[in-house]
Amino acid sequence: MGTFRLKGWVGLAVGLWACTSAPPTSPLPARPAFTLAAQRPLFSAESAYVAIERQLAFGPRIPGTPTHKACGDWLKAELLRRGARLTEQIGTYKGTPIRNLIVSFGDTVSQGRVLLSAHWDSRPRADRDAHNPNAPVPGANDDASGVAVLLELARLFAEQPLPYPVDIALWDAEDLGQEGIEDSYCLGSQYWLEQPQPYPTQAYAWGIHLDMVGGRGATFFQEGYSRQYAPFLTERLWQVAAYLGYGGIFRFAPGEPILDDPFYLSSRGHIPMCNIIQRTPTQGFFPEWHTTQDDLSVIDKTTLQAVGETLVAFLYSFSPQSLNPK
Ligand SMILES: [Zn+2]
Repeated sequence: MGTFRLKGWVGLAVGLWACTSAPPTSPLPARPAFTLAAQRPLFSAESAYVAIERQLAFGPRIPGTPTHKACGDWLKAELLRRGARLTEQIGTYKGTPIRNLIVSFGDTVSQGRVLLSAHWDSRPRADRDAHNPNAPVPGANDDASGVAVLLELARLFAEQPLPYPVDIALWDAEDLGQEGIEDSYCLGSQYWLEQPQPYPTQAYAWGIHLDMVGGRGATFFQEGYSRQYAPFLTERLWQVAAYLGYGGIFRFAPGEPILDDPFYLSSRGHIPMCNIIQRTPTQGFFPEWHTTQDDLSVIDKTTLQAVGETLVAFLYSFSPQSLNPK
C-alpha cells in the first residue's frame, strides 16, 4: 500500500493527523461491554505459518504472471476445500489484469454480512531495497501473512460456523502502485467497488482488513482511517486484544492514516472497515517492507497467534442482532 497519500491529499492527511493526535485514547473499561463466546475454535499459528510458506513457494505473485496464477489456483482450492462458495472476479482495471477471490460462508442474504480481506498479490519491485531495487518482493509479511490468517479462519468457520454470514475477499493488484500516482495502489478492491459481486457493498455491516500481520516484534496502532470510518469496531477489536493479554501488540493508541484497500472500501463503498496493519508512528512499516528481505525470516508465529486469536474472539462475540455495535 502507499504510505500516505501525498499528492492532493495533504489536507486530508493533516486534518486526520490533527484529530488522531488529539486526546490519545479512551482508557480500557474495567469490564468489557461485550461478552466473549465461551466456545470458540482454536486458531493455529502453525497452520497460518505453513500457508505463508506455501504462498512463497510459488514465487512472486505478480498479476499476469504464471506464478501468480498458480498461487491463485492453490488459494482457490484451499478455500473450496473449506466448504466455501467461491466467486472469482476476473477483469482488467486501469490496464492491469485482476483476479479477486471472494468466498462466502453462511446464508446468501444481502444484508448483515461481514467482510474480511487481505491482498494476495506481491509487489513486483523492491524499491526500498538498497541492493536489489528491481527484484520482486517475496511478500511474506506483505501480505501472505494476511491471506494465511484468513485461510486459517476459513478452516475454523467450517469447523464452527459463525452465527452470521461472512465473506473473505482476497484482493488482487494491491501492491503495484507508485508513490505520487493517484490511486495506483489497491486496484483489485477498487475494481470490486465498481462491479461488486456476489453481494453489493450495502450487504456488509462492516469489515476487517489484514495487511502485514505476521512480522516479528509487530505492534498494531489504531490506524487513522479505521478510527475515522469504524471507530466502534476499532475500539472493540483493540479491547478484545487487551482482554486476551495482547495489549502489548495491539496498542490502544492512534496510528497514522494509511492508503490501503480499506480506505477505498470505507470511503467509496461505505463499508466501515478496520485495518490491522503494522506501522508505528516512529518506525514506519516493518524494516523489511518493500525489500527482498520480506521473506519467511521476518515472520513470527507469536504475532500470527495474537492476531488470529483476537480475530476469533472478536468475530465469535457477535450475534446477527449485535453486528451493528455503533
Ligand atoms: Zn506493500
